[in-house]
Amino acid sequence: MSAEPVTINTEWLSDCSGCHIAIVDLHEKILSVLESVKIQRCPVLTDVKDYPPAKIGLVSGAIRNEHDRHAAIEMRKSCDLIIAWGSCAVFGGPAGAGNVHTREEIADAVYLQNKTTSTSTLPNREISPLEVSVTPIDKVIDVDLYLAGCPPHPTYIFDALVSLLEGKQPKATKESVCAKCKRQMKKSDVAAIKQHTDGMPDPEICFLSQGYICMGSATIDRCLSPCPTNGVPCTGCAGATMQILSEPNRDIRTEIAERMARLTKIPKEEIVKEIEKSSKSHYSYTMASSMISEKPTFLINKWIHEANEDYEAVHG
Ligand code: SF4
Ligand code: SF4
Ligand code: SF4
Repeated sequence: MSAEPVTINTEWLSDCSGCHIAIVDLHEKILSVLESVKIQRCPVLTDVKDYPPAKIGLVSGAIRNEHDRHAAIEMRKSCDLIIAWGSCAVFGGPAGAGNVHTREEIADAVYLQNKTTSTSTLPNREISPLEVSVTPIDKVIDVDLYLAGCPPHPTYIFDALVSLLEGKQPKATKESVCAKCKRQMKKSDVAAIKQHTDGMPDPEICFLSQGYICMGSATIDRCLSPCPTNGVPCTGCAGATMQILSEPNRDIRTEIAERMARLTKIPKEEIVKEIEKSSKSHYSYTMASSMISEKPTFLINKWIHEANEDYEAVHG
């Protein structure tokens, strides 16, 4: 590592704070990094409002309001290298699901209709106004390194930081979540889709083989596969695999549906329909990214409309 400490700024745009908290999960490994860096600005640690010049800038969160845009631009001006840190910064993250609603609908749901708040008033004008849509940071500033994950596993954060401190190109695996999952994919006679609350899945067998939708095979590994390892299907929080992102006609629902239909007796069309019915969940982490939203096969507003019609037909 270099003799002089490397200066680091971090910034936190619209997000849940999980990416910043993930630094703590480095545990004692953080000590070896701290020897080589000087953290100048980090909203979770310090109350610094300005942007001192720095070698590395870590930006978590998406651009949702005017303050986010200003902060992202200031980070770019002050840092030599910018890392888009976490799925919110890279793809827009869960807040991207807001792109299927207007700002007025969001404000109404959050402030006026919310049964857990008592004020029933809209925020005053000192709150930074929402922009029309959620934007991944590379639509506003140049990004040097993408580190998706929700949050990225500390192993990947550590590898990226150490590589940059040593002046090397960080390694980036292109494997899917399945690569680190120990469950076995095998053909089965399962003929119907199960919901995550149905029954008790076999811990040795792939969720898809058992009729549960799991996004692992369409999701890039930035997490070491904790969810399927601990009995929960992957919801795709690290974003799609490079193959899906880089090819215009490959998309998440078709990839999952084709694989699951090959493993089970469930028709592909039924699986496609099921994924479209819950598209706001299945695409929630990445739908603000043009790499997903501009795919000709991504038709979220149509899917939501059809799901609502189906619901109305059943529940009136
Ligand atoms: S990527 Fe996930 S963990 Fe990180 S800030 Fe966004 S929602 Fe939170
Ligand atoms: S699809 Fe899910 S359960 Fe199956 S191998 Fe991949 S990550 Fe594991
Ligand atoms: S297994 Fe899937 S849902 Fe779980 S952390 Fe990894 S990418 Fe996210």
